[in-house]
Amino acid sequence: MSRRQRVAIVVVAAAVLWAALDVAEAGIQRLYVLDCGQNVGKDQSRWSPGVNEGRSIEFSDNCYLIRHDKGLLLWDTGVPDSVAAMPDGLVVANGAITYRRTKTLADQLAQIGVKPADITYVAVSHTHGDHVGNIALFATSTVLIQGAEYEWAMAGPNKPAFVPTQTITKLGGDHDVFGDASVMILSTPGHTPGHQSLLVSLPKTGVIVLSGDAVHFQDNWTHKRVPQMNVNKEQTLASLQRIAATLDERKAQLWINHDKPQSAQLRYAPAFYE
Ligand SMILES: [Zn+2]
Repeated sequence: MSRRQRVAIVVVAAAVLWAALDVAEAGIQRLYVLDCGQNVGKDQSRWSPGVNEGRSIEFSDNCYLIRHDKGLLLWDTGVPDSVAAMPDGLVVANGAITYRRTKTLADQLAQIGVKPADITYVAVSHTHGDHVGNIALFATSTVLIQGAEYEWAMAGPNKPAFVPTQTITKLGGDHDVFGDASVMILSTPGHTPGHQSLLVSLPKTGVIVLSGDAVHFQDNWTHKRVPQMNVNKEQTLASLQRIAATLDERKAQLWINHDKPQSAQLRYAPAFYE
């Protein structure tokens, strides 16, 4: 082999390596955890039949912002920002739940330099009020929702405040948001007809499953309990099974949205996970 050939091989190898590094750097960049409210349940057994009857329970309520080189995805929108101005919170579900907010979603996004119009996709785990409370804030975003959830919500008494300028993408199962498998919507019905969870593969932190309300807190996860208000018990159990299998397969962590002690361990924005 001549010296010129050897030099050519080295140059080609360097170019291949450079391209590979470039690919590794592209794609998903970071995940922010945002404080999207605190919910107080009057009676825990609403979520854990027969367990802790008559005892109140406090829930965290998070939103999550994912930055990818192809755009921003907001996962859930929390309780309405207007609740931040209500000193006694907002009582819902015939008095069973009180929503509170210490800071608005809009302010937390502004703090990290994000305007609602910058958000490409808003995906909602489901259409309960503590998840779609700020959907109208994202008037130019594409909403990612299961078709089954959309039809169910729009036929019910508490229609989410979708706005006509939003593009509503009705999914029929799992969905690869950015086309590189880094952010995958997983169909996990049962709590509601089109409930969904989110699998996020971060370069440093690893794989995380964001629960939505497939499960509400750790003890229910451990005992695979199904809350009374869930629309379908068998589907709920199958979805819990599916999440457990995904955690095993992908060596993933489960971040349980409403689990207050677990959320207390998380780093909230402006900090982030890479
Ligand atoms: Zn919820």
